[in-house]
Parts: sequence; C-alpha cells; structure tokens
Amino acid sequence: MSVLERITSEDAIALEEKYGAQNYHPLPVVLSRGEGVYVWDVEGKKYYDFLSAYSAVNQGHCHPKIIGALQQQAENLTLTSRAFYNDMLGKYEKYVTEFFGFDKVLPMNTGAEAVETAIKLARKWGYEKKGIPSNQAKIIVCQNNFHGRTVTIISASNDPVATENFGPFTPGILSIRYNDIEALREALKDEHVAAFLVEPIQGEAGVYTPDEHYVKEAFELCRSKNVLFIADEVQTGIARTGRLLASCGNCSCVDRNCSGTPEVKPDVLILGKAISGGVFPVSAVLANDAVMEVIRPGNHGSTFGGNPLACAVAMAALEVVKEERLAENADRLGKIFRTEMQRLVENSNLVRLVRGKGLLNAIVINDSEDSSTAWDICMALKENGLLAKPTHGNIIRFAPPLVMTEEQLLDCVSIIVKTLKQFEK
Ligand SMILES: *Cc1c(COP(=O)(O)O)cnc(C)c1O
Repeated sequence: MSVLERITSEDAIALEEKYGAQNYHPLPVVLSRGEGVYVWDVEGKKYYDFLSAYSAVNQGHCHPKIIGALQQQAENLTLTSRAFYNDMLGKYEKYVTEFFGFDKVLPMNTGAEAVETAIKLARKWGYEKKGIPSNQAKIIVCQNNFHGRTVTIISASNDPVATENFGPFTPGILSIRYNDIEALREALKDEHVAAFLVEPIQGEAGVYTPDEHYVKEAFELCRSKNVLFIADEVQTGIARTGRLLASCGNCSCVDRNCSGTPEVKPDVLILGKAISGGVFPVSAVLANDAVMEVIRPGNHGSTFGGNPLACAVAMAALEVVKEERLAENADRLGKIFRTEMQRLVENSNLVRLVRGKGLLNAIVINDSEDSSTAWDICMALKENGLLAKPTHGNIIRFAPPLVMTEEQLLDCVSIIVKTLKQFEK
C-alpha cells in the first residue's frame, strides 16, 4: 500500500493495532483534517473537537498564521543544534520572556522534558543557593498529579496504571494532598525541600479546581520558607482557563500581560502544549536570573530544544493568543458553558456536577469509576458530531479550541444535552 493512498477508518485502526505499541485506547475515529474548531474523519464526517489535543490546539487546528510561520521557517532553517547560534532563538527568548514576565527561558520540546528540567533546576538551586546538603533535596508534589511520563516524573505519581512495574523510582519526592494548605505547611517544615511542584488546576486528574485561595496561599507559604513555587501550566496555561495563565487567578487584566504584580508569580513556570498551538513540540521553563543562573554550559540540554522552527512557530502561536484575545474569549464562553451544563445537572439523574474554569471543564457522570457509561456517552457524542474523551472512567473533559464562537458553543451545548438525554435513566 502506498503511504499516500486513501485509507478507511477500519484499515487505519487495524494498522495501529498490528504495528503500534498499545499504550493508548483511542476513541475509534480516524482524523485526517482539521480547521479551527473542526476536524474531519477519513470518510469526510465533520466533528467539533472538544479535546483540543489535551489543550495543545487552543488556537484552533491549522491556524493560518502559525502554519505560515512554520512553512516560511521550514524553507530557511530547521535545526542547528545548540552547538551553534541561530538567528531565531534569541528573538524567541526575548519574545517569550517578555510575554510571560521572566528574565530567562530554557527551551525544551515536550511537557515531560520541561518538568524534568524544572526538577533539575530546583535541585541545583537547592544545593547552590539554599544550601541543602548534597543529594538531600526534596520536591513536594500533589496526589493525583499529572506531570508526564518519564521515570522521575512517574516517581511523583500515585496512579498505579502509570507506575506499576516501572520501578525503581527516583527518590526525593514528598507527596501531599492537593488543595490542602495544612498538608503543605507540614511538609514545608522539612528544611531539605527545594520546591513545590503543582498544577494550578489538575487537568488529567479530571479538571480538579482547588479552593479559590489555595494557589495564592501555597505560593506565599513557599515564599516564606525559601522554597521554589513551580507551576506546571502545560495544560492550564496559554489562555485555556480564561487567563493567560491559571496561576493569574482572577486577575482582571485577562488578556494582557500583567503590568502590575500578579497575585501569584511562580518562581518557575512550565509551559508546553499550546505554546506552539499544537503545530510542533515546544515546551519551556521560565525563571528569573536568581534561579536560572545555576545552569551553566554542559549542565543540561536537548538537540532539538530551541530549534529555529520551534521558535518561529511558538512566536506566531503566542501572537495569535494576544491578537485574537483568546483568554477573554475562553473566560466568556466558559461562563456560558458552565451555566448551560449547570442547568443540565439540575435536571439530570446522570450528570452529577460540572466544574472547571475558562474552557477547561468537566462533567462527572453519576456512575462508578469502572463503569463504561462515560465511554458510551463519548461514543454517542461522536455519532452526534462532537469529540470528547473520558478521563478516570466517569469524568468527561470538555476543552474545545479557544477560537470558538458563541454560536458554535451553543450548537455544541445542544449536541451534548441531546446526547446525554439518551442516557437518562
Ligand atoms: C500533558 C501534560 C504534561 C506532559 O506533556 P507531554 O508533552 O505529554 O510530555 C505535563 N504536565 C501537564 C500538566 C500536562 O497536562
């Protein structure tokens, strides 16, 4: 079979089953095209994308500005490695640090790599700046976190599916309850703690939004103990939650960079996914000089990190966020969406609750975690032209591209309401 030949959904799925490692369980839909909030399968059926590649495609599929930047840069230069300078990296570094208000950036490719980088940075800072005795540094993490898939990162996980038979694990990790300030206060009594690594909203866990002041209080506690506050905003960042960053809280500037002092300014900020609009693997670790200066030549690196193609794509993707006021749109549409879903919850035996912020939302189905109800609902949503994916059995995450219009959102709401009615007992 020629690789360019058209393929049916059935055949495409069969190929993946035969030749691919079975590390995912996808919904049986085979996509071949995307534009804005829509994707099309190989048979030509059109769907609303309500996952956005786990919030990587915030700017919508194949955004012309981002694709244009990709094409233009691809014709000039794609990779130099960091053995040499290239004419894009410095420009990007200036752009991204000013965009998020940090002194410096360390560019990587995937979210997991950026989390690993942040952990290494925090440990080195812990020894060289805080004076933690050699090899004793600890990182505090939260239960039910998701930070990626490397061995060190799963060492911070309490998900048996992600960890079983992958040991031995990396030491130096303290796990506490999420959204529990007292647990953090207790853990911070350990003077060997270098950092607290936290998601401002736990996305993969099922869109767990903490209490209103949790992030701010956690940040202040860390500050008082000379512990780095590391925000993993790989999923929540880049306008997804109705603010440029979820750690901006309810800051009223919404779309602009904070000109004043934001309530929470992480010491280390981890970004990935939508920093490239889902066009290219790009991730970043941002910090101020007092932290980043512990990294010296040879300490850390990546062949592809900071490549000119990634730099061009990421700058275009961030321009789109600003130009199209995506945070403001996510904030406004998110409120409409939750109001509509709340109305559904009040008239439903099936949907227990809706939660989320901006356009990162989830509904919880009134069934056990090992039931197939949420999966069956996602299959029915697919039939009705909307793609979403269950997480943890009975939770369905709803995260459309942020370029959605109100009219499209209301269309999606009616698809969701109609579909859920089929499942009411
Ligand atoms: C997706 C995600 C990661 C990992 O990113 P990859 O690019 O898949 O390695 C890390 N942290 C959070 C919060 C994520 O949602």
